[in-house]
Parts: sequence; structure tokens; C-alpha cells
Amino acid sequence: MTADVSIRNATKVFGAFRALDDVSLEIAAGEFIVLLGPSGCGKTTLLSILGGFIEPSAGAIAIGGRDMTHVEPAKRPTTTMFQDYALFPHMKLIDNVGFGLRMRGMGKAERHQKALAMLDLVGLKASAAKKPHELSGGQRQRVALARALAVDPDVLLLDEPLGALDLKLRRQMQDELKAIQKRVGTTFIHVTHDQEEAMAIADRIVVMNHGRIEDVGRPSDIYMRPRSLFAAGFMGEANFLPGRVISLAEGEARVETALGPATIPITAFTGDAPSPEQKITLCIRPEHFRSAGEAGATVALGHARITDSAFFGAHHRCHLQPQGNSEIVITAHLPQTAHPQPGDELELTVKADTIVALVEA
Ligand code: ATP
Repeated sequence: MTADVSIRNATKVFGAFRALDDVSLEIAAGEFIVLLGPSGCGKTTLLSILGGFIEPSAGAIAIGGRDMTHVEPAKRPTTTMFQDYALFPHMKLIDNVGFGLRMRGMGKAERHQKALAMLDLVGLKASAAKKPHELSGGQRQRVALARALAVDPDVLLLDEPLGALDLKLRRQMQDELKAIQKRVGTTFIHVTHDQEEAMAIADRIVVMNHGRIEDVGRPSDIYMRPRSLFAAGFMGEANFLPGRVISLAEGEARVETALGPATIPITAFTGDAPSPEQKITLCIRPEHFRSAGEAGATVALGHARITDSAFFGAHHRCHLQPQGNSEIVITAHLPQTAHPQPGDELELTVKADTIVALVEA
């Protein structure tokens, strides 16, 4: 089963501290949503409100169109999978996975059939008679997932479930988690502070900071068209150039940045619309710099000198200092085939449709 989720103006106050501040979000049935943000931004608080472990100070939660704001956890169509997904050490996997079904009064034969189907889903059917200590960390993780899904939740809530695994296993489990979610179609809401994990698994990412939602969108939307400086910086690397709007004309903005004047498309403004004299920040990803003369619309930002360069396989990672400004360091990824050398001078050119401009709040 699967259900949509509606969060309306959810706020959670602990004493004088606002852990969650007026958060609203609509999640479609069957979506894989990732709540992404730094430690303390309110991700777990939001997940706990959805699971019913914390009551919001204000606002409302609906799951599958039914108001759940004050419904106790056991009566919600949700299951929560925590990082310390304690399996019962003395129980066989089949009994671990069937535990929730037993609690719900399901008979043994039916329970075993369901538990086996769930172990099959996570590729561990042949290990049904094993005990948890006979498994690797990744396998135990899969059993925990099978156990969480066995009770047929409409929404599965996952709180940093891969946080305890080493990097290689985590990457592998991300792929598996995504594949399993697509197969079962259950709505997944997954908390992580790992941007790569979010990009690997999410249909949509919710970027959070200080208890608020900074941005919501597909991984590519948030990376290419971030709507806040925080979202731009949290989702991958970016160069931030302070500046101001000089004038606006049809489809274009004339801006002044620390590198000099430039003309950028008005569509570069992903957040609020610009007005003259407003302070702005340009966000440019390192891989969006182009060699001068390359095809397509580009924006010239001024000249800079390479201070150092390192070869990373797919690209050269270079640091550059703009002419006449020793305080700014630009990071640019130049093509694999380029031969950048410290001391080289080049024109900083960016593909026009990759520039993001945000006006200061
Ligand atoms: P992490 O990734 O570290 O788990 P998070 O984004 O999940 O962070 P939350 O656990 O939601 O953050 O916590 C948000 C803020 O609310 C934190 O500053 C935390 O200290 C505070 N907080 C959470 N629960 C309580 C509580 N019961 N009493 C007081 N403050 C709390």
C-alpha cells in the first residue's frame, strides 16, 4: 500500500527553541522523498512528527487524506526504521521479519509466507533460518528493511538508516533501497545529511536548515536551479560571487560583481525577481566554466590567473584569482584535455544557462 502525505504549517518548539518552523510540504503517494540538511536542522523532528512520536506545537499532518496530527504511532499507517535497527539476536531472520505480523495476531503459516516473501524482496530468502550475528552489516540492514515493510505500511519513515555502514556498502545499499522502493511502491521519507546519498535515491529532495525548508525539488533541479544560497552550497560545490544589479532590460540583467560588469539572462534569477541596485550573489558550479570561444551562449566574467591545478581524471581542478582582486578564489573544473598551468591567464566564461543569481533577502 502507499499513501500521500500532507504537512501543513508544522511547527515544533522545545522551550524557547524552534526545532521546526512553519513547515509545509505535499508528498505524492509512492514518492521517495529525502529530507536533507545539516545536524540539528529539524529533519528527525519532522520525521518523528510524521511517525507520531512527537506532537507538533502547531500545524497538521494528513496521511492518505486522513488527519493524523494527534493519532498515536501504532494507529498510523507508518513504520519507522531507525539507524540502530536492533534485530532480536536470538530469533531467526524469518521470525525477526515476521515479528510485527505476530504482534498483529497473524497466524504462523501466513506470517512465514509473508516474511519469506519480504526476505526474497531483499535477496535473503535463502538465509531465513540464520540468526542476525551470522550476517554482515549490509545484510542486517536488509533484514531490518524487510521487517519494516512486512507490516505493509503506507509510508515508510527512514531515519539515517545507512549511517552506520561504511562508504562502499552505503553506496551499494542506496542503489538497493531505491530499487526496492520502486518495486514495492510505498512512499519513503528518508532522512540524511549526506548530499550524495540524497541525490542517489531521491525522487525529490527537501533541503532543510534551521527548522525551515530552503528548497524542494528533483536532485537536478536543486543542483542546477537552487532557490536559496543555502541549498546551492549544501548540494555540491559552488562559487559565490557577491554583486549588485545595475540595470534590467528585456530578458537580461546588467550586473556588477567582484570580477567586473557582466550581462546575465533574467532566467538566472531562481528565487525572488531582481530590481535595480539590489544586492545579489551569483552561484557558479566549478564545472560550468567554459573555454572562451566554445559553442552556445556564454557570459564573460573577466580575466583570471591560475594559481594551482590538479588532475582529477574527469577534469583538472583549478584555483584561479581574478585580475585586480586578490581576495577572491574561484574553483573551476577545466576539461580533461586542457593543460592548465599555474600562472596561465584565461577569460572566465560561463555557459549562460547554468548561471544562478539570487537576490539578497
Ligand atoms: P541530526 O542529523 O543531528 O539528527 P536533525 O536535523 O535530525 O539533526 P533534530 O533531531 O530534528 O535535528 O533536532 C533539531 C533541533 O531540535 C536540535 O537543535 C535539537 O537539539 C533540538 N531538539 C530535538 N529534540 C529535542 C528535545 N526533545 N528537547 C529539546 N531540544 C530538542
